[in-house]
Amino acid sequence: MRENYKLTRLYLEVHLSAGAEINLSKSQAHYLVSVLRMADGGTLRVFNGRDGEWRASVSDVSRKSATITIAEQLRPAQKSPDIWLCFAPVRKHRNSFILEKATELGVSALKPVTTARTQFGKMRLDKMHAQIIEAAEQTERLDIPELDDTTTLNQMINSWPENRTLIFADEKGDAAPALEAIQNISGPAALLIGPEGGFEDDERTHLRSQSYVLPVSLGPRILRADTAAISLLTLWQAVQGDWN
Ligand code: SAM
Repeated sequence: MRENYKLTRLYLEVHLSAGAEINLSKSQAHYLVSVLRMADGGTLRVFNGRDGEWRASVSDVSRKSATITIAEQLRPAQKSPDIWLCFAPVRKHRNSFILEKATELGVSALKPVTTARTQFGKMRLDKMHAQIIEAAEQTERLDIPELDDTTTLNQMINSWPENRTLIFADEKGDAAPALEAIQNISGPAALLIGPEGGFEDDERTHLRSQSYVLPVSLGPRILRADTAAISLLTLWQAVQGDWN
């Protein structure tokens, strides 16, 4: 049974240690008071990817400020499994879905990649950051995924780390079943999901010519990009990740 899981969680980038007093930013104080309805003397959990999770209490609460006093550590820092999700930005609400669900599913890095048929431009890092923090607070993660700025498919390929397998969800339908392919991978991996219009054939050829690319099929039906992202990440997590 998870200890303290009823206590609100707040992600704080600052260093967390016993006895530390942290003055919250205006937006964090507003969130604590207006959204989480916390009052003076309230108890919560604060966490980040370096220091783990700590019990803390709130004082000097107002809509514009609040002080957090750190008590004891509840859980040591713990990294999520090393799996990247590279995805072509799709329409806004579906992007939000991808960010939230991928964070819940333990992704370690989120990398927006524009392709020939991507109809949506750069994603706003500040909005992405806020969405993944909220998802990490809710899902009891002890870290948050790394967030990359949007790059193009070519930029991604040109700077790809050779030791990392890129599991390429290819809707063309002539790739190996994803489960079989994922079972045979060893070492670091990443997933690549295309845009609503899919990949162009020259992109497909360019990707398949890379030694580290592993094309996979997600079955006979064409999945929406957000469905494909979550399905493939779920599969990877179940086979190679921390669901075992
Ligand atoms: N080109 C398709 C169309 O226009 O209907 C749709 C592409 S699909 C909405 C978006 C992405 O999801 C694809 O580029 C691919 O990465 C992934 N995807 C969807 N269905 C898939 C499948 N059955 N096998 C592998 N990947 C799939």
